[in-house]
Amino acid sequence: MDKQQDFVLRTIEEQGVRFVRLWFTDVTGTLKSVAVAPAEIEGAFTEGIGFDGSAIEGFARVSEADMLVHPDPDTFQVLPWRGEIDATARMFCDIHTPDGHPSPTDPRHVLRRTLERAAGEGFTFFVHPEIEFYLLEHANYRDGIQPVDEAGYFDNVPGGTAHDFRRRAVRILEELGISVEFSHHEGGPGQNEIDLRYADALDMADNIMTFRTVIKEVAIEQGVHATFMPKPMWQHPGSGMHTHLSLFEGDENVFYDPSAEHQLSTTGRRFVAGLLRHAPEITAVTNQWVNSYKRLWGGDEAPSYVCWGHSNRSALVRIPRYKPSKSSSARVEYRAMDSAANPYLAFSLLLAAGLKGIEGEYELPAEALDDVWQMTPRERQVLGYTPLPTSLKEAITLMEDSELVAETLGEQVFSYFLANKREEWNGYRAQVTDYELEHSFRAL
Ligand code: GLU
Ligand code: MG
Ligand code: MG
Repeated sequence: MDKQQDFVLRTIEEQGVRFVRLWFTDVTGTLKSVAVAPAEIEGAFTEGIGFDGSAIEGFARVSEADMLVHPDPDTFQVLPWRGEIDATARMFCDIHTPDGHPSPTDPRHVLRRTLERAAGEGFTFFVHPEIEFYLLEHANYRDGIQPVDEAGYFDNVPGGTAHDFRRRAVRILEELGISVEFSHHEGGPGQNEIDLRYADALDMADNIMTFRTVIKEVAIEQGVHATFMPKPMWQHPGSGMHTHLSLFEGDENVFYDPSAEHQLSTTGRRFVAGLLRHAPEITAVTNQWVNSYKRLWGGDEAPSYVCWGHSNRSALVRIPRYKPSKSSSARVEYRAMDSAANPYLAFSLLLAAGLKGIEGEYELPAEALDDVWQMTPRERQVLGYTPLPTSLKEAITLMEDSELVAETLGEQVFSYFLANKREEWNGYRAQVTDYELEHSFRAL
């Protein structure tokens, strides 16, 4: 039993914790939870707890269904919204096969493995997401989607739901050890954004899974509905998860170079070049739902073309300005990802694409200075601003041919993910939509 495990057992005792939820994530990014009695935790640390993996999306084929969850004691937290009576705690888990190896289908393991590869080159990878979501009056979309307010970007809504909501959510997140940097009303009615302070990518992926749960719980508590759906209303902005990325070597931010253009080092330029070159093939993962493409191609500051810029909000990658005294804040912002991605897999691919750029010494193309949405297709073509995939189908096709994605996700996650997404596309394609009925039912 190591020190952290001891600490967990003591805290369970001292705080009278009655249930410990063991959390892990399936391949499409759904949080799974099994509650165990505190008496089981010691055994869970030493031997793991068995479960039937075949019931979980992407985990195992039926013939190798037995899996073991191993709680990570560093992630132990008491869940504030469950109250102090019969307290409930949670730990994220790593999944192992019965013979004791990390399961190749565990998204957390995919990210660990990619981070270890980066560590082999001397790098640690930090991320900070801007997470957008909508607050709606109720979950029943058939009765019409009703945002909780009519406010817009940065609006202060006196007495409004969103204010109280954000205050409560931020307090719970902080109690769970998740630092929040900003929170504000976003552009759409009922749309909000909460930005988490940067952290190591594995901690952040755990934090994002926790964040989604906290937001849903607070919404239930306050009698509203929260959704991370990328584009719930066609006429309003989608919910993105712009993510700021940086690489460190020890204490040194390797994207920082005071003498370079935009203070972005050669390593940083190559990293961005890697993101750009591989963006189309990783989009099926960063934007994994049929609905994701309604956001990517719906305007409202979601990027549609592959290019980078400094303060250009139509670009896929932006190099934000930061205070010269804060060299550690040197970073690049990847703007395509949405709030409904699996963060473990998406961060793995962003890192792998950037590292590929560094290893291959990719050349960064010229900066996009103009609004790329205003250009003609011909102008964009001349400048080399290729489009991101316009549908899940296109994204799948690009991913199928990607060595980078296959290598990073591993063969099992790669083929499971593709099969799952083909099924989603086929289900969608078979639908006759309201749009078609409205435009054709009478007219044709
Ligand atoms: N909602 C926009 C998107 O889907 C982003 C708005 C912004 O924060 O710039 O990407
Ligand atoms: Mg935003
Ligand atoms: Mg942003």
